[in-house]
Amino acid sequence: MNQIYSYQRKDAVEPKKNRPERRLVHWLFFLLLAFFLFKGFFWIKGMFGQRRVTEIPLAQKQSIETVPDPNAKYSQILNYTISAGDIPADIFSSQGKLDANDTVVLLAASKDAYDFTNLKIGRSIRFYFENEVRATRIEYDRDTERVIIVERAGDDFMVREEKINYNISKETAKGTINNFFYADALESGLSESTVLEVGDIFSFDVDFTTEIQTGDSFSIIYEKRTRDGEKASDGNILAAKFTNVGTDYFAYYFDNAGNSGYYDADGRVLERQFLKAPLSYRHISSGFTGARRHPITRKVSAHYQIDYAAPAGTPVVASAGGTVISASWSGGWGNMVRLENDNGYTTHFGHLSAFAKGLRSGARVGQGQLIGYVGSTGWSTGPHLDYGIKLNGVPVNPLKMDMPKGEPLAGDEMRQFEELKKQYGNLLE
Ligand SMILES: [Zn+2]
Repeated sequence: MNQIYSYQRKDAVEPKKNRPERRLVHWLFFLLLAFFLFKGFFWIKGMFGQRRVTEIPLAQKQSIETVPDPNAKYSQILNYTISAGDIPADIFSSQGKLDANDTVVLLAASKDAYDFTNLKIGRSIRFYFENEVRATRIEYDRDTERVIIVERAGDDFMVREEKINYNISKETAKGTINNFFYADALESGLSESTVLEVGDIFSFDVDFTTEIQTGDSFSIIYEKRTRDGEKASDGNILAAKFTNVGTDYFAYYFDNAGNSGYYDADGRVLERQFLKAPLSYRHISSGFTGARRHPITRKVSAHYQIDYAAPAGTPVVASAGGTVISASWSGGWGNMVRLENDNGYTTHFGHLSAFAKGLRSGARVGQGQLIGYVGSTGWSTGPHLDYGIKLNGVPVNPLKMDMPKGEPLAGDEMRQFEELKKQYGNLLE
């Protein structure tokens, strides 16, 4: 660019030397330069703008609904889906037509309800327009249950959080396992989050990573939800039955003041001190939308240790809540985690390839919390998890452990629970 300016200057300072042909050549040269400069500008702009250009086209992330009802408060609703690279302030100005001052006021007004500089990719934000260029109402889904509502009040904004209003219908999904639970359950119409939830609900009785057999079956009653006529995320699982190798397991969601949760057919809380397995079906399956059978097997040794043969990197979770005794290298055990659990139990997890981030001795871990990853460290010939439980220092067989359930519901609660069971009885057949 400096060269061009110097050329122009030269041309201007020494006009006497210019004869007509020379002038023509100069002009042609100048035009050519101007052309390349112009082209170059767009080329450079293209380079910087490319990240934006290759993203989802605006038409796909923006839908505009014109409200035909002349009495409706809003004449137009613009729904915008946030994608990678979006800058919140830009969204407010380009979609909501807010000016810079509006955005500043909005951020200040909303700071106690939600930090609008942190919009999540994939979520949608809706702008409502009255007879004004600027949006007068903004809605942003904080998660699947709550929405942040912004309303203009003169030059200020009022911000509040509300529960999302869904239309709920009770649906039943049934299926028989012929491939593996995750894929078969998705095929029966359940959403991924509901499938993973089923795994969590029965995780005290069934090891979904190794015990599921072809011919097992399930029946799930859940809340199917729509919002303004459109399909939305599933709600709660209300009742479920899982048949594993001929044994029926039941779960009923009971809204029991202060102790709401899943109860078995006898009215006992399903939650127990130990999960059936230290490999969490949720951690393993979550995120895989295609059919994928996990090549995990288990073998109980003479000393009541269980060897789970699993791919290196498979997440390992605490089967019971407790305190970390150690998370370190232990000779033949390789990288090992030892936990002290309640009621005199200790658990160990050996041959790990790595520990969960931040896991230190003395730290408290919750049941189902990630503690490390399957590996082949120490005396090991292939990736596997060595899992063992001791009660007062004596090894016990985790598969034959008698983990007592809590007391069943009683009195009025039990009567209400029996009513609830009757309501779902036929649907779970
Ligand atoms: Zn082993």
